[in-house]
Amino acid sequence: MIPVQFDYLAPSSVEEALAALAEHGDDAKIIAGGQSLLPVLRMRLNAPEVVIDLGGIAGLRGIREDGDALVIGAMTTHHDVLTDALVKEHALLLTRAEHQLADAQIRHRGTFGGALAHADPAGDLGAPALALGAEFVIAGAGGTRTVAAADFFVDLFETAIGDDELLTEVRVPKHTGWGAHYEKFVRVAHQWPIVAVAAAVKSDGGTITEARVGLTNMGSTPIRAHAVEEALVGQPATEDAVAAAAARATEGTNPPSDLNGAADYRSHLAQVLTRRAVLAAAGA
Ligand SMILES: Cc1cc2nc3c(=O)[nH]c(=O)nc-3n(C[C@H](O)[C@H](O)[C@H](O)COP(=O)(O)OP(=O)(O)OC[C@H]3O[C@@H](n4cnc5c(N)ncnc54)[C@H](O)[C@@H]3O)c2cc1C
Repeated sequence: MIPVQFDYLAPSSVEEALAALAEHGDDAKIIAGGQSLLPVLRMRLNAPEVVIDLGGIAGLRGIREDGDALVIGAMTTHHDVLTDALVKEHALLLTRAEHQLADAQIRHRGTFGGALAHADPAGDLGAPALALGAEFVIAGAGGTRTVAAADFFVDLFETAIGDDELLTEVRVPKHTGWGAHYEKFVRVAHQWPIVAVAAAVKSDGGTITEARVGLTNMGSTPIRAHAVEEALVGQPATEDAVAAAAARATEGTNPPSDLNGAADYRSHLAQVLTRRAVLAAAGA
């Protein structure tokens, strides 16, 4: 289907984009890579009068170090995150997740910030961002504010970004030297996961000293598996010890039931995938 007709604006700065949002309010919609928004417009699930394209704002793209954090611009493509040496060195979990996100064409158009702002509970970046304790920098008329990942994902397709605000960058604390793995369960290649698990693990002589685990599609937002993390610390990276910790993966979850799987099936998957993800992250 063809989208309903809209006006197209291409601001060259964040200030111009914010001014356009302020002027057009509810009638406006931001477009980044368009990989989620365009299907929505084509199906006429949304019909904005104005589309504001962030593609011309050079400052929103790129990856840099800032002390103990990596800063990823919202308009950085999935491909650029996937192939970036700094991300691989300091936030390997993101590299692992981007590797499994959609296909090469979508990774060249879709953006890191767009995927997180879209907040699809089946999206592959929310759980890794949550697990790594990312912070989201949001710009509005009054300046910028920083929101912790735990507060950023509010509900299904809903984030802390206000209607008159923009996500400009994501700050990811460095996890240098940590092992990482993203274990994704799909029935069809290059699609969103039925369930996935993001795991980053720090080990010392075969013992897990710190762990970060995030769950994809086990609720209306990404979920941090705190019970698993606590159970892993001090344990050897063995099949039995990790399986015992992974059994707690369903604590605090509220998995959906849909055509891809019932809630109890997803709960089973979460435990199996957590065990696999942690063992792979620990190099066991
Ligand atoms: C066939 C197909 C398969 C896919 N498979 C997967 C998959 O396996 N895993 C996965 O995670 N994703 C998948 N995707 C989605 C893909 O990751 C998209 O890139 C992503 O969801 C949206 O990023 P985008 O840059 O294209 O954002 P857009 O589509 O342009 O925007 C998405 C939403 O975010 C808002 N937005 C965008 N940027 C900002 C910003 N800076 N500030 C505020 N709001 C903003 C927009 O207004 C819109 O509501 C798939 C997409 C397709 C078409």
